[in-house]
Amino acid sequence: MDLKNIYREIINEHNLHPQYKLEMEHPTYCRQGVNPTCGDDITLSLKVNEDGVIEKVAFAGSGCAVSQASTDIMLELIEGKTKEEALSLSQAFMRMVRGEASDEDMESLEDAAALADVAHMPARVKCATLAWHTLEKILSE
Ligand code: ZN
Repeated sequence: MDLKNIYREIINEHNLHPQYKLEMEHPTYCRQGVNPTCGDDITLSLKVNEDGVIEKVAFAGSGCAVSQASTDIMLELIEGKTKEEALSLSQAFMRMVRGEASDEDMESLEDAAALADVAHMPARVKCATLAWHTLEKILSE
């Protein structure tokens, strides 16, 4: 299987079987993100402890496969990380979208690197970055 197919598989898997599409009671942060051009609508819930560690993550919502997979992949990546680490991952993701990611960035993004090709398609950029933009808004609160 070539890399493009592996990437497609990762996106399909996260879209069909999201790990973090869960209910969360009493989240520290809860924020909705909408991409009207595609109809993507997600709500992120994060539980952050006193040390600034993102202990629990969840999302609700609907939309295209790219937006849903990207959200699930992002949450998997930031669970257990500090807010600062999550922010630097977000910056790495945005560099990837712009085609400026270093090898180190790509490595740190793990499964999110599967979105590299999709993220370069003009019609898909907003779908791929929706969760990350919503996360950045939470982190800047
Ligand atoms: Zn979309």
